[in-house]
Amino acid sequence: MATFEQLGLPSEIIKTLDQAGFTEPSSIQVRAIPFLLDSEADLIALAQTGTGKTAAFGLPILCKTEGKGKEPTTLILCPTRELCMQITKDLQGFARGWKGISVVSVYGGQSMSIQINSLKKGADIVVGTPGRIHDLIRRKALVLKNVERVVLDEADEMLDMGFKEDLDAILEQTPETKQTLLFSATISKSVYSIASDYMKEPEEISVGEKNKGADNVTHEYYVTANQNKFEALKRILSSLPNVYGIVFCRTKKQTQEVADNLQQAGYNTESLHGDISQNVRTSIMNRFKRGRITLLAATDVAARGIDVNNLTHIINYNLPDQNGLYTHRSGRTGRAQKSGISISIVAPNETGRIKQLENLVGKTFEYKKIPSGEEVMEIKFNSFLEEMKNIDTSEFGYDHYFSEAVSKLKHLKK
Ligand code: AMP
Repeated sequence: MATFEQLGLPSEIIKTLDQAGFTEPSSIQVRAIPFLLDSEADLIALAQTGTGKTAAFGLPILCKTEGKGKEPTTLILCPTRELCMQITKDLQGFARGWKGISVVSVYGGQSMSIQINSLKKGADIVVGTPGRIHDLIRRKALVLKNVERVVLDEADEMLDMGFKEDLDAILEQTPETKQTLLFSATISKSVYSIASDYMKEPEEISVGEKNKGADNVTHEYYVTANQNKFEALKRILSSLPNVYGIVFCRTKKQTQEVADNLQQAGYNTESLHGDISQNVRTSIMNRFKRGRITLLAATDVAARGIDVNNLTHIINYNLPDQNGLYTHRSGRTGRAQKSGISISIVAPNETGRIKQLENLVGKTFEYKKIPSGEEVMEIKFNSFLEEMKNIDTSEFGYDHYFSEAVSKLKHLKK
């Protein structure tokens, strides 16, 4: 097993990684870090979200950055405000106490003047969404003539979100001599077209197979008629006592309905979709991250950039319109070396889509029967007993509790 020292990183950074609990490098880090420390060549890296790709490109970039520059030498483009903030936070954390490197993030939804002021103070690394970066270039608040490296993170998502024109305009402003690094979970024609338009003989590395799902995610599916879907969801959730996950829905209206109905059924749920204001969204995201909300009903767009490592389940209340989105959804679980389950609830006429997804992900999806009322009861009862078993009553003795429990449960006897 390689260590961060063996990858060629300096001791200052290794100390910080140690403190952050990064004991050994992930596969993408093992492949990308030595290459990027050594080479100025372009790179296409195929890696799912949650594989440690931010550190894979971020650490070598920090090593190559002088610090205290006025105009940026690195530009990192990513699809969402949340991802932007996450990358910035990660890089600032890695660089703490080292070389005085300044990392500035710019994204839509925050005041333009605050961002212009931060840029004026000097930024070595700018992390931004394509729309806002393009705007700042047009206002001459961001000058890219010193850029030595461009990172296109989640390139497939940026293209899916319609940022192609902004990307074209931005890349045109960067020097010919720069190094371009493209990270993507899936590789499509449009991703290749970006590569062929803007990259010079890129090296290609891939962690797992192309377009394949994360290794530690298992896939299950349930079949039910559309009108019984919510009941099916409730039964499935009842059979998963410690579920912590995202329920993906297709429309804003449906997302809200599912969240409202789950709340009524006693679940700790909120909805996340485009009609919810940014402030409320941020508050919901924070509560979800802290585990105060255990089930988030969300649309694909709103769920972009969700960075929570220990989700147990992803539930596809509806399959996504495009198969590629399935990989993104299921990649929200099974992150940071943990395992996860991606569940799909499909109508009888949608089982053909399951076959397509199996081919895409490269794994068999397990067919599961929707639990009956009796099975749900049994699961709930056993989980309750497990919980009781785990209560530490050693200090006081069990006897009193045991006789009381037996007397209270007497009516359950046949
Ligand atoms: P990323 O794919 O960059 O979004 O990383 C996903 C999560 O894994 C983040 O929370 C990182 O902090 C964490 N992570 C990245 N690299 C490592 C590592 N080598 N060891 C442990 N955790 C890591």
